[in-house]
Amino acid sequence: MENGSFKCPECGGQNIKVPAETKSLEGMTGAICVDCSREFTKDDVIAQAREVAINRVRDAIQRSPK
Ligand SMILES: [Zn+2]
Repeated sequence: MENGSFKCPECGGQNIKVPAETKSLEGMTGAICVDCSREFTKDDVIAQAREVAINRVRDAIQRSPK
């Protein structure tokens, strides 16, 4: 997952500081927005991941030949 797809729920900023190098969703918990210092809760991470997943599926559907 690219970090660029994560957005701060508070200010919409995309400068998200991930606590440790991680490839897992759980690892994103505790990530901090550089702009407003909002900390990502587990719920935030899940909500964002769901949004990203929906967008990816939507993209795939639009790109698939009819
Ligand atoms: Zn923020």
